[in-house]
Amino acid sequence: MGPPGAGKGTQAKFIAEHFGIPAISTGDIFRANVSQGTELGVEAKRFMDAGEYVPDEVTNAMVKDRISLPDAEPGFLLDGYPRTLAQVDSLDEMMKDLGQEMDAVVVLAAERDELVNRLLQRAHVEGRADDTEEVIRRRQEIYDEQTAPLIEVYEERGLLVEVDGMGEIDGVTHRIFEALESRAG
Ligand code: ADP
Repeated sequence: MGPPGAGKGTQAKFIAEHFGIPAISTGDIFRANVSQGTELGVEAKRFMDAGEYVPDEVTNAMVKDRISLPDAEPGFLLDGYPRTLAQVDSLDEMMKDLGQEMDAVVVLAAERDELVNRLLQRAHVEGRADDTEEVIRRRQEIYDEQTAPLIEVYEERGLLVEVDGMGEIDGVTHRIFEALESRAG
């Protein structure tokens, strides 16, 4: 977890590689569907372009399908999901059905100004449609309203691993591994 621009996608790939499990990014799956012009992509695009969340039913169904694939059997890392309390409930149910348990929830903490700068930079480099300044601001708002409350939920469950997401990419990766290892004991 972490606000838009905190570096979730970048770090998710390193963590998944380290543990030999798939990194499942809802944002990446939505973007792939948009570029392939699938029904799901057409539906998701109007929300994404506005910086809004794709409706829970759509997102939940997509994640359920993805984590049921054989490569996710030994475990998986979710990037960008859950993002709402309804998604937390849905994920709980999916995990129960799979007979799996969550090991940890990593939260990347970052400063707002730095995040907006990073996203504007990324917009410049990658040309993502949801990286205009107005949409970036909207995404930050939605994160504060709908996703930040999840931190408390997972803290109460004793799953939260909070890591400073500022500074060099390698440094953040190092801090994540250290925090996860000290949890594992
Ligand atoms: P970032 O990492 O920049 O916050 P993502 O690539 O994770 O963005 O997601 C891009 C967009 O895809 C989101 O703004 C949202 O519209 C949609 N999306 C991704 N994950 C979810 C989710 N769990 N629930 C609803 N919408 C989602």
